[in-house]
Amino acid sequence: MAFLKQLNLICAGTRFDCCPVICNFAVTIRIMEGVSRINKITQIASLKCPNCGKAKVFYKRKYPFSKPLMRESCESCGYKFHREHGYYQGVAWVSYGLALVEGVIAFLLARYLVFGLTPITQLLITVGVMMFLAMWNFRLARVIWLNIFPD
Ligand SMILES: [Zn+2]
Repeated sequence: MAFLKQLNLICAGTRFDCCPVICNFAVTIRIMEGVSRINKITQIASLKCPNCGKAKVFYKRKYPFSKPLMRESCESCGYKFHREHGYYQGVAWVSYGLALVEGVIAFLLARYLVFGLTPITQLLITVGVMMFLAMWNFRLARVIWLNIFPD
């Protein structure tokens, strides 16, 4: 893959008409990189291992709102999810960001899609959506954090 990226850089530094074979190859590589980004987003959204993308990071919950339990390590590749003390401290900021974005979207939908709601009702809908998605945010934020700081 490093070789392919190197080719991409070489191509970006030359004119398109000078080497059509390499430039077409570079375009293909860019498309492949786009697909791999979509795969990464899908992998994060499905809460899978940041290393192999095969096994889940969390155990399956018994009840819909029970506390999510994280696995010690990946069942497929052995990648460790449990880290040193304080590794997951920054997750609170990721979770805060997720809740903020979801709250703003919920508020905008309540305000501009549903007419006739009072401001108190709009606020209650916003807070309700944020609370409903809190457990999802807890798990998603940890997987995002593992992808940002994999080592
Ligand atoms: Zn894995």
